[in-house]
Amino acid sequence: RETAKQAGTSEPEKRVAATPASVKMLLGEGYSVVVQAGAGVNADISDAEFEEAGATVLQGAKAVANAADILLKVRPPTLGEVGMMKEGTVLMSLIHPAQNKELVAKLQAKNITCFAMDQMPRTLSRAQSYDVLSSMANIAGYRAIVEASGRFGRFFAGQFTAAGKVEPAKVLVIGAGVAGLAAIQQAHNMGCIVRAFDVRAACKEQVVAAGAEFLEVKIEEDGSGDGGYAKEMSKEFLEAEMELFRSQCAECDIVITTALIPGRPAPKLITKAHVDGMKPGSVIVDLAAETGGNVETTKPGQVYEYNKVTHVGLSLYEHMPSQMPAQASFLFGNNLAKYILSMGPKKHFYIDFDDVPTRGALITMGGESMWPWSPPKPA
Ligand code: NAD
Repeated sequence: RETAKQAGTSEPEKRVAATPASVKMLLGEGYSVVVQAGAGVNADISDAEFEEAGATVLQGAKAVANAADILLKVRPPTLGEVGMMKEGTVLMSLIHPAQNKELVAKLQAKNITCFAMDQMPRTLSRAQSYDVLSSMANIAGYRAIVEASGRFGRFFAGQFTAAGKVEPAKVLVIGAGVAGLAAIQQAHNMGCIVRAFDVRAACKEQVVAAGAEFLEVKIEEDGSGDGGYAKEMSKEFLEAEMELFRSQCAECDIVITTALIPGRPAPKLITKAHVDGMKPGSVIVDLAAETGGNVETTKPGQVYEYNKVTHVGLSLYEHMPSQMPAQASFLFGNNLAKYILSMGPKKHFYIDFDDVPTRGALITMGGESMWPWSPPKPA
């Protein structure tokens, strides 16, 4: 059962790392599953449903830690929770090792074999089945549009009614990674006119396929960096894209920002002056809020109004997945169960160091640090 509080709120984590569906997947390959009592309550899964799926429900974290050889969690464990684990336990969870050095040292000292799901190599297509970051970003992109539509005082799709013609809402999506593409797709499905911008030229095709116009600036600079992620852009490029956003913000009703650079603060792309130029009733959803936000007027973790523009500062990984805890748990649980099964059925569970998704997420084992790790260069 998750205990960690969400950043910026007093809400507990609502997701759970297994569901009846993922339990059945594991039981089918010879594993037995124990679940802490109440673990699924915030994701609308009762203890009885876990039991019907074949799991055994145990009272308290200590009992689960004692019983489990492989322990599944959503949030990084607290130091106290690591203290409860048996030496040699296999842990699969979000960890964020760069930000949680003390936790990694404790996992190492406790001889935990830890797979940090946030370290899954993402460019390998087979790893997509285990990629919790993509599952969560997909939810966040969808949810950003749902949040925006709920707070927008007009229709999204255009209509011809007896009372008059209604124009479709115009949506601008900045950053076309996993969350941005999900937002484009959802806004397109809801009948909006969608425009999108990204520094990586490679995503143009995906943007168009998802239903948006791909906006461009007249500067030759590609933002593709390591591992398919973006690199930091030159000052000239950022100025050019911000100039583009000035006119787009004045025209668009909904702005969704998702621009992130690994290990760096989110680039500030929408200034207070841009927001001052927006129409009353417009909505901004800043999914980059957890690393400072792409929008100067965002308040991370908060929903508020500035200049009659609603600002939704609910971030991609921190807040949005917990807005849809049942869906997020289903996908998270499936990612973890598939990952375990990729290492074999119960009788043949095996950690293969030559398997990139296995080795890539492994951060501690046998009292050693196994992180950071880079995949071998293709011959
Ligand atoms: P992310 O969350 O790190 O960033 C979101 C987007 O913001 C990225 O598309 C990035 O290019 C963009 N961005 C950064 N700076 C910007 C700026 N100044 N202006 C506009 N846009 C900016 O990205 P992500 O969604 O985690 O995905 C990153 C990459 O990893 C993508 O190429 C994605 O396709 C790839 N990926 C691959 C797989 C796979 O093949 N298995 C799975 C997941 C992700």
